[in-house]
Amino acid sequence: MSIAKQLFQLQELELDIDAKERALQQVIVRLGDNQSVVSARAKLAQAQQHLEELKKQQRDIEWEIDDIRSKVSVLEEKLYSGRITSPKELTSLQQDIELLKTNRNKLDDRALEIMEQVELAGTGVAASSGELKTVEAEWGRQHRELTMEKAQLETTLADLKQQREQILANIDPKTAAFYYELKKKKGQAAAKVEQGICRGCRISLPTADLVRARSGSLVQCSSCGRILYLP
Ligand SMILES: [Zn+2]
Repeated sequence: MSIAKQLFQLQELELDIDAKERALQQVIVRLGDNQSVVSARAKLAQAQQHLEELKKQQRDIEWEIDDIRSKVSVLEEKLYSGRITSPKELTSLQQDIELLKTNRNKLDDRALEIMEQVELAGTGVAASSGELKTVEAEWGRQHRELTMEKAQLETTLADLKQQREQILANIDPKTAAFYYELKKKKGQAAAKVEQGICRGCRISLPTADLVRARSGSLVQCSSCGRILYLP
């Protein structure tokens, strides 16, 4: 095999390695990104907190209502007991009872409102919980797929890197060093020649260069400096 062909194969292999390395990095990034689950969890926590707050308000109001109810019954007991005879005192007692009842009616209305809000918030919690389950299941599926993809890429990369070592073992170190130097400068060190044209810079090559390249010598493009490979 000509040295140009070996170097070109090395280049093809290294391009493949680079692409697989990039793909592996992307898979690793995606494996660490469970943002959808994090958001769904936060949403559920928020909905639960909202429900708890409403339930607390509901309990507070119920206690207030109970408190008023017992106050009213104490006052009514007093009112109908016959123990109080002063009309002024009786009127005042009736007014107190009326005021308490008015307050209780307001609280009853508020309690009803809160009950509806609690129901609505409960529906919200159930919806968020269902959403979280869906998102978690989807993430679990994605995670399994990505883990498999990662393992496959790692195996492929190990194989490609071994192939690179094999190719490099057959290339003398000076030539390899020259190749890498050129690669550093040009991005790609070798260029295929097709119909007498260097694919690296698209210049039409002199016949003498083509003849030398065909004979297996290491020839650089007179324009871009890349190592010419004639398939
Ligand atoms: Zn060229």
